[in-house]
Amino acid sequence: MNKSVQEKICEISKKLLTYGLNHGATGNVSVRIDDDFYITPSGIATEFIDPKDIVKCSLLIDEVEVHRMTKRPSSEWHFHQKIYQTRADINAIVHTHSPYASAISVLRKNIPAFHYMIALFGGPEVRCSAYKIFGSYELSEEIIKTLGTFKACLIANHGAVVVSDDLDNAFCLAQELEHLAHQYVELLKIGSVTTLSDDEMRQVLLKFKSYGPTSKDQD
Ligand SMILES: [Zn+2]
Repeated sequence: MNKSVQEKICEISKKLLTYGLNHGATGNVSVRIDDDFYITPSGIATEFIDPKDIVKCSLLIDEVEVHRMTKRPSSEWHFHQKIYQTRADINAIVHTHSPYASAISVLRKNIPAFHYMIALFGGPEVRCSAYKIFGSYELSEEIIKTLGTFKACLIANHGAVVVSDDLDNAFCLAQELEHLAHQYVELLKIGSVTTLSDDEMRQVLLKFKSYGPTSKDQD
């Protein structure tokens, strides 16, 4: 039997805990269906989230409406809304406070093309946003600017956001991003990183495009 979108969001939220990509009540997950998005709630620790807790929001929802709701969406609903409004190609968003991606976000560094798998996120690097306070509209503007057409960005002194056309793929991308962030932190400790050239990354991006890859089928 097919899972409901609420069940699927719960499943992925808990999987993020299991894989150490989130903890406690950190991070959030959403899925867009038509003119609405379904998002994890505010103020419930992920291990206790139930499908009935997932909040359905219109893509046009505003602060006034959110304040009226008895069951409120994640405090980061602004950037989920902004991404869906701006990116027609995106139907799922995973936000993490995963340890290594968050550590790099504190350095406010982009993750460069030190490994060809960086191209999985759609460009030659994974960029880091400027700092804005969590849950703000200003943060959503900063994220959309930093994300551009890519599938991930770091959020300064905060964590990471990963976007995709479907939720399973967004989860895999979040996992891959944390894996690459871990490697990059180790390289920073050594102090020397050799990056691929723009031309080499262009070739990888082209190859990924011609394969129509997902994060699940890379060598
Ligand atoms: Zn957060």
